[in-house]
Amino acid sequence: MSTDSEQTGTHPAEPHHDSLSARLNWLRAGVLGANDGIISTAGLVVGVAGATTDRMAILAAGVAGLVAGSLSMAGGEYVSVSTQRDTERAALRTEARELREMPEAEERELAGIYQAKGLSPELAAQVARELTEADALAAHADAELQIDPDNLTSPWQAAWASLIAFAVGALLPLTAIALPPVEWRVWTCVAAVIIGLVLTGTISARLGDARVGRAVLRNVLVGTLAMTVTYFVGVLFGVTVG
Ligand SMILES: [Zn+2]
Repeated sequence: MSTDSEQTGTHPAEPHHDSLSARLNWLRAGVLGANDGIISTAGLVVGVAGATTDRMAILAAGVAGLVAGSLSMAGGEYVSVSTQRDTERAALRTEARELREMPEAEERELAGIYQAKGLSPELAAQVARELTEADALAAHADAELQIDPDNLTSPWQAAWASLIAFAVGALLPLTAIALPPVEWRVWTCVAAVIIGLVLTGTISARLGDARVGRAVLRNVLVGTLAMTVTYFVGVLFGVTVG
């Protein structure tokens, strides 16, 4: 059976949908997904724009990148959350078996957890007894595993969330490069992407309690580096082929 502290480190309250930290986790994942969508699609469309002035070619590449990226993010998220949920279900099964086979030891263990959190031995024992009488499995799932058995993270929900987040991010460079006249395309896209990355960098730094300035600078540097590299690859390719 795993200890309280181990689990807190690896599962930052993610499955508790109703808690504030869980909502922040979802928001953080959404912002990171949008950030990925901005950077990878910007690199793609700026690269194609380096090779050709054909608006349809740029648009087609951008839309294909949006769809492929969203699906890949959704698939990755589905797999990772499914695995996490399998792990949580297995832990719940183990816990249920232990509760059947050694209920006294489990109640002592629960009391021990509350005592370690600062309750007096008498109060911890009383809390453990009352929680065990109410719903033993839910009490152990909460205290030991930090999971709510009735509210495990849904892989489909997580997949949809990352699909939408990536697509929203991807739409920014895509529209910024598709709408302006040919001579302004790349610069409009670069400007829009920098603004977008300042925004996502600021939000994710705030959510993670990190230094905003540095986080934003790093984020913008990564994005502009991606666009610069793909642009020159596109130019080289356009010169060689065209
Ligand atoms: Zn237990």
